Amino acid sequence: MKYKYKAKCSQCGQRFFAQTRSELLRKLRKHLWGKHSDWMKRRIQAGKKKALKKTNVSPDALKRILSPSWVGFAEKGTIEKLTGRPYEEVKGKLTDAFVQLILGSIGK
Ligand SMILES: [Zn+2]
Repeated sequence: MKYKYKAKCSQCGQRFFAQTRSELLRKLRKHLWGKHSDWMKRRIQAGKKKALKKTNVSPDALKRILSPSWVGFAEKGTIEKLTGRPYEEVKGKLTDAFVQLILGSIGK
C-alpha cells in the first residue's frame, strides 16, 4: 500500500504515513501531544513570542493556512492557560507557527 503523505517526527524520528494530509496531521498531533507534550508547550511559548513580534502577517495568508483540519491543532485549555489570551485570538497565530514547523517535515 502506497501512502501519499509521510512525515517524520523532528523530536524522536518516528515516521508517520497517511493517505490524506488531515489524517497525517491528526497522527502527528496525537503523537506530539502524547510523547512530546513538554516540547509542544515550549513551542507554544516560542510561537507566542514570535507572534507578538511578527505583527505583519496578512489576513489572507492566515486564511489560506487555516483549514478545518487545523482547528483544534493545539488544545484550547492548554493555549488559554499558557497564553492567558482567548483561544480564538491566539489560534491563528499559533497555527501559523505550527504549520511552518510541521510542513517543513512533510514529504510527498
Ligand atoms: Zn516523536
